[in-house]
Amino acid sequence: MQVATEMNRDLLEIVRALELRFTEDNPLSHARHQRSRRVLPGGNTRQTLYYSPFPLTVVRGQGGHVIDLDGHVYLNLVGDYAAGVYGHSCAPIHEAIHTCLTNGLSLSGVNNPEVEFAELIKARIPSLEQLRFCNSGSEACLLAALLARHATNRPALLVFKGCYHGGFMIYGDSPQPLSAPFEIVQATYNDVAGTREVLRAHAASIAAILVEPVMSAGGCIPATPEFLSMLREETRTLGITLVFDEVMTSRLGPGGVQGEIGITPDLTTLGKFWGGGFAFGAFGGAESLMRHFDVGAGGALSHGGTFNNNIVAMTAGLVGARDVYTPAVCRGLNRRGDALRLELNELGHRTGIAFQATGLGAVLNSHWRAGRISSPADVEPTNSLLRRLFQLDMLLRGYYVAQRGMITLALSTTDEDLRGYVLAVADFLRTYEDVLPRRSP
Ligand code: PMP
Repeated sequence: MQVATEMNRDLLEIVRALELRFTEDNPLSHARHQRSRRVLPGGNTRQTLYYSPFPLTVVRGQGGHVIDLDGHVYLNLVGDYAAGVYGHSCAPIHEAIHTCLTNGLSLSGVNNPEVEFAELIKARIPSLEQLRFCNSGSEACLLAALLARHATNRPALLVFKGCYHGGFMIYGDSPQPLSAPFEIVQATYNDVAGTREVLRAHAASIAAILVEPVMSAGGCIPATPEFLSMLREETRTLGITLVFDEVMTSRLGPGGVQGEIGITPDLTTLGKFWGGGFAFGAFGGAESLMRHFDVGAGGALSHGGTFNNNIVAMTAGLVGARDVYTPAVCRGLNRRGDALRLELNELGHRTGIAFQATGLGAVLNSHWRAGRISSPADVEPTNSLLRRLFQLDMLLRGYYVAQRGMITLALSTTDEDLRGYVLAVADFLRTYEDVLPRRSP
């Protein structure tokens, strides 16, 4: 205990020194943050983007790199929290946007790309017989939950502690004032027996289970196939709608994670990379459920949204998915992510430091502990001293990484970039070995 406390004190001192260096190195971002705080609460408008001591202001992106206000160039491994599959300068997408500009914005009607895009998504994601577009993953999750409640005539949702279903649907241990006030039943991710018990006990009131096939913001923890199979079997028997939130995970295989593991949910939500860099959300599933949105045919759900089919997101998204992130390219990128994860884990083993990377494909999260990580209880807080140390050190080396430890690869990330990153992590482990936790012998 004594040793741990001393280590923490050393760690705190190191973090403070790095924060000082970071502040001195980034006077313009610092000033910009102070100014921003006067008009945007907390100095930002997307909480995820805040980290201590202040977030860098990013002014430009080129290829796989971002450039900040003070002129530093970083390899972007944040990848817009998994949305940035295409990098910053994807030529086919840029051309598609130019076509939109030539043809005019705010078209005020149904358009061509939305049909083609919906057909393409339907052809890729197994559960999607029909879908609807919206403007964010958060909206998609909210609409899927509301649809399930309407279709089943039941009030409650079963969610897993640590799963994130957008800004309006975070259900943790404490009440979240911004989360939609649904009746919530909670269970533990990857706990097959416990979840089955909770499900059966509350079945009569549960409209839907919402689950991420890989818990993403919660630390990149893949669900086990047994866990997802159990959810599929039980929901079928109990008349509960199974919703896969694939807002983040749909980039991990051509048909999302559901396509990889062969488990088809009733509803699926999408977002992020599908918009080709623009605001995007989609949800859909079995025609028997989605027909509630067919108002002309007697459906009761009149779903609107000025920008649901906005021409830029529809066109950029279609071109990106059709011409750039093809199934083969998708598999290639995720294979590279798997290889990187193995290399990082190898580093942890070789150095004896309790460091590991979890995740699936090209979405990874680092953790400062050894042993199996299967639920959020195994994950340290996103702003722990170790996480802050790692992020600050990587930023100072030119690697743009998230404080929570998540990195995502883009198509613009080269093998050389990744070799450089592995070397940087190895050097980090060497430099700070005295204050990093060790694996037990
Ligand atoms: N669900 C999951 C699994 C997500 O990762 C996110 C975004 N991080 C959302 C929903 C919400 O998507 P958006 O930020 O587009 O509202």
